[in-house]
Amino acid sequence: MREDQTETPSVPLEESDKSNPVYMARQRFERASQYLNGIKHGLVDFLNSPKRSISICFPIELEDGSVVTFHGYRVVHNRVLGPGKGGIRFHPDVNADEMRALAALMTWKCALIDVPFGGAKGGVACDPKTLTETDLRRIIRRYVSELGDNIGPHTDVPAPDLYTNAQTMAWIYDTYDILHQGKDNLAVVTGKPLDLGGSEGRCDATARGCLYATQRLLERGGVTGLRDIKGARVAIQGFGNVGAAAARLFQEEGAIIVAISDTQGGIHDENGLDPDAVQTYKDEHETVVGLPETLTITNQDLLELDCEILIPAALSNQIHKENAARIRARLIVEGANGPITADADDILFSNGVLVLPDILANAGGVTVSHFEWVQNIEHESWELEEINRKLKIKMTRAVDTVFDRWQHLLTVGTRPADSADAENNDNQPPAPDLRTAALVVAIERMAKVTLERGIWP
Ligand code: NAD
Repeated sequence: MREDQTETPSVPLEESDKSNPVYMARQRFERASQYLNGIKHGLVDFLNSPKRSISICFPIELEDGSVVTFHGYRVVHNRVLGPGKGGIRFHPDVNADEMRALAALMTWKCALIDVPFGGAKGGVACDPKTLTETDLRRIIRRYVSELGDNIGPHTDVPAPDLYTNAQTMAWIYDTYDILHQGKDNLAVVTGKPLDLGGSEGRCDATARGCLYATQRLLERGGVTGLRDIKGARVAIQGFGNVGAAAARLFQEEGAIIVAISDTQGGIHDENGLDPDAVQTYKDEHETVVGLPETLTITNQDLLELDCEILIPAALSNQIHKENAARIRARLIVEGANGPITADADDILFSNGVLVLPDILANAGGVTVSHFEWVQNIEHESWELEEINRKLKIKMTRAVDTVFDRWQHLLTVGTRPADSADAENNDNQPPAPDLRTAALVVAIERMAKVTLERGIWP
């Protein structure tokens, strides 16, 4: 096992490598930094650097008798607010840079939504579609045992992410518990099955959080002429944990789900798809494509559909420089982490497409993860109504804070009134988008708490 305490990105951060997730995270951080007043450079640097990054490599004997070497990662970006918190994903694209960028996102997300966790992320580079359930169980058990005491209920608490689920979390808990016998270990991981300390509402939490955040943003007048989800045409990329629940929940609130997709392509019906019928079809055929009486489209078509709300709920970097100008949605709700590149942010902003950013839009997952962690520690079990009520309060408050800050940055500008730069428009940073305002709120919170704790020694 290798642990790098002082982190340098494994690839140079050059203009030419704009799709590198670390490059993009830094670009966005630097953009937000222009709006920070009175935070020392060294502190800003600290907040932008991962605290601990672990790379592991291990062999697994697969069910078919072959032996394969896997590479896994776990990054804790910041622990100022509390234990690390973040998903574990299984995907062929998992790499150290992606983990660092996603761990930083978790830091901002936890700060924004106001849960006492730091940011973390982990994963194993593998293709779960080619592996059996037994293979996946062996991989996750070995991964957890390699991490040893680097995860724990008060150290770093994993959760589900891309291609991991409640079953994976149960295996993580079981492995950790076997390695730490006699201790109260339930809170080591969240997103567990209900009968194993999981929380009511966790499965739908991310999508429900997207719904509450969207509703609040529309109520606040974020999208001119669109005050309500009712009647809005919604396209959703990805039909997994987040996408499938989003389809159901948005439809329950009166939205018309005009398109849904998965890895194999998309389906489109201008009159509205029935999410339950799509789910039944997907369960039988392992894809949404081919559902009777729907038009087959590509994932690219789906992103560019004429609709009011687009919810990317699959992978990163789906909306980029090449397709951003063709996006016709009025509002993009980032169910996925990092579905829009930094270049595309600028194009969407100048075209008047509002983006509800990932660190706000999909924070419902970590919020209910926090509720699960609290219930586990207190040996309590809360009712679903209670969970959803608390989630709605958190999401609404976070949207209000970010929206108010955004409006303030747009109207008042960023420099203090007595600043020498106040008269000089050339030194004013450009108008910020909602993502930048969200980052500003998160970074300022983190800086404040870091200083309240005091810099050691
Ligand atoms: P999941 O594995 O349950 O579902 C992923 C879905 O994306 C699947 O339907 C898959 O078919 C689809 N997909 C994969 N590649 C695709 C492609 N190239 N084009 C179109 N569709 C594709 O994952 P999930 O938990 O729903 O997570 C989705 C995203 O949401 C990820 O970015 C994840 O980090 C983010 N997220 C998840 C949670 C959570 O609670 N699960 C919380 C916050 C953020």
